[in-house]
Amino acid sequence: MTQAIGYIRRSTDRQEESLDQQRAQLEAFADKNGWTLKAVYCDDAISGSNLDRPGLQQLLSASESSDVDVVMAWDRNRIARPKDALDGLLLERKLQESGKRVVYASTGQEADRSFASGLISYVEHYQNGDYLRKLSRDTMRGTVDRAKRGLWTGGPPPFGFDRLILDGDTPKRIVRATNDGGQVMLDADSGAEIDQLPKGKPHKKQDHEVSTLIPSEPSRVRAVQRMFDDYASGAPTRKLRDDLNDAGFRTSRGSKFTVQTLLPMLENPAYRGRCVYNRRTLSKWHRYQEGSSVERKDEGIEHRMEADWIVCEDAWPALVDQATFDRVQQLRADSKTKHAHHRGNAMKSNYLLTGRIVCGVCGGRLTGATRTSGKGYKTRYYTCCTHQAGHKDRCPKRYSVPADLVEEHILNLIQSDLLRLRDDDQLHAYVAEELRRLSGTKHDTREQLQKRLVEMDQKIARLRDHLGSMSPQTAESLGFYQQADDLVAERAEIEHELESVTANVNLPPVGDLRKRIAAEFESIQALLESGSLEERRSMIGNYVDEIKADPNEQVVHIGLYPTLLSQRIEVPPPYSKNQQRHYSESASKSVVGCKL
Ligand SMILES: [Zn+2]
Repeated sequence: MTQAIGYIRRSTDRQEESLDQQRAQLEAFADKNGWTLKAVYCDDAISGSNLDRPGLQQLLSASESSDVDVVMAWDRNRIARPKDALDGLLLERKLQESGKRVVYASTGQEADRSFASGLISYVEHYQNGDYLRKLSRDTMRGTVDRAKRGLWTGGPPPFGFDRLILDGDTPKRIVRATNDGGQVMLDADSGAEIDQLPKGKPHKKQDHEVSTLIPSEPSRVRAVQRMFDDYASGAPTRKLRDDLNDAGFRTSRGSKFTVQTLLPMLENPAYRGRCVYNRRTLSKWHRYQEGSSVERKDEGIEHRMEADWIVCEDAWPALVDQATFDRVQQLRADSKTKHAHHRGNAMKSNYLLTGRIVCGVCGGRLTGATRTSGKGYKTRYYTCCTHQAGHKDRCPKRYSVPADLVEEHILNLIQSDLLRLRDDDQLHAYVAEELRRLSGTKHDTREQLQKRLVEMDQKIARLRDHLGSMSPQTAESLGFYQQADDLVAERAEIEHELESVTANVNLPPVGDLRKRIAAEFESIQALLESGSLEERRSMIGNYVDEIKADPNEQVVHIGLYPTLLSQRIEVPPPYSKNQQRHYSESASKSVVGCKL
């Protein structure tokens, strides 16, 4: 009997089907196909853009078991709403790797390892990710609006402040962090405690409520003021830290203060009553720039230009006076210049393949090494770190791979693959065909409804003829008027149904799709050419499984994921300077020979 496992997920979006509904649908689908649903793995309140979900990880490891044949989810968007469509594709491939079937119950669609399926999956993942992209834009619009009004835009307030929840202008309740990392809710008038929230449980406002900051209990306010005063008069930050911790104060997470948590506090304009939004962003999708939301590629923290900050003065009471605050900012700036040279020394590595290229003899990592020739020319190499570290017993030969050549070769492979795929008519045809198939069921309903409408019109016309040929009394007694009313009502109903069915068929037209695929490919290419080191590294990670340098065979094996490129390509490495040129030539030839 076919053994299946399932996956269900609910994000925080209220529009979605509940977990129970999803589970029931999987059970019904398995039943219908005569499969045994062995287990259902679940993630609750986790976004599909997060690919490191506990339930998903369980599913992945369970799928490796030999007595699982099918992996099911209600829809592809349950498995992932990836920011990068390739991530979703690779996730599916991972499930298929051990020979499992991946089936989506809502459409009965099966993702297999075929070229067509891979492309459809790519497009669907792109669209699923797009949903979050749009959601993020809407959320950002709301946040920007609140920031402009001088309201607190979210997150734990700075130490020394409480949050005051407002409904319009009316104070509703106060939310205060407790020393154990939890929160208490206080009555806005009396200050009496009305509720407690344990650590890790965020306070949820209602949709129409907003929040602002108010000074917290006097001892915390005094602690903040003393911290600024002490720093302004030259006290070391470790004293500031110890004073806070010794007095029993803790951060909003319930941890002790450290110098690292203290320094940003000293620069926080909130203590001057100033609401500043968009000083930096951590958003996965967008940044606020020149008055609108612009898509982000970088996932890390990003500091925004001052021109893009949204500043509202006197948004809430200041805890620190202007003179002290200014003095502290001056000291902070001085201290940063003084320590700047320490940071400047940390040179960033420029080796794209670090962590992915290994030694074929010992399996150790190849690390970047720059060598300077007698004339001062610098050349970048990858060399085995086992050999380098002197473990000659494990790795006897010294073998260096010229970094520029291998990196360029791999980038070229990806580039030309993208280019070819982008203009592939087969790709567009397959995608269009699948979209037609997906919309097929709705199409059928629509045709049926249209047919029924025509029938209704004929019936109504016939009835009208009858009515014209007889006296009103006769027609009434035969019930023809009633019949006519019913027919007209029924017709209106069908028309309405048809409208709603038509409205739901909102699949993109094929021409649109072609543009979209091209645009997506172009942005990937732009990233490969001019992205940051991290961006390019992660792109390469999407394509390249492993690179192995083999000193015995004197070749570099490049193992690519079978996603879009399916062939393992072998490239002979150079040994002398003359051979280097030969190497690049043969490298470009093997790109041409790469077939899907
Ligand atoms: Zn080695």
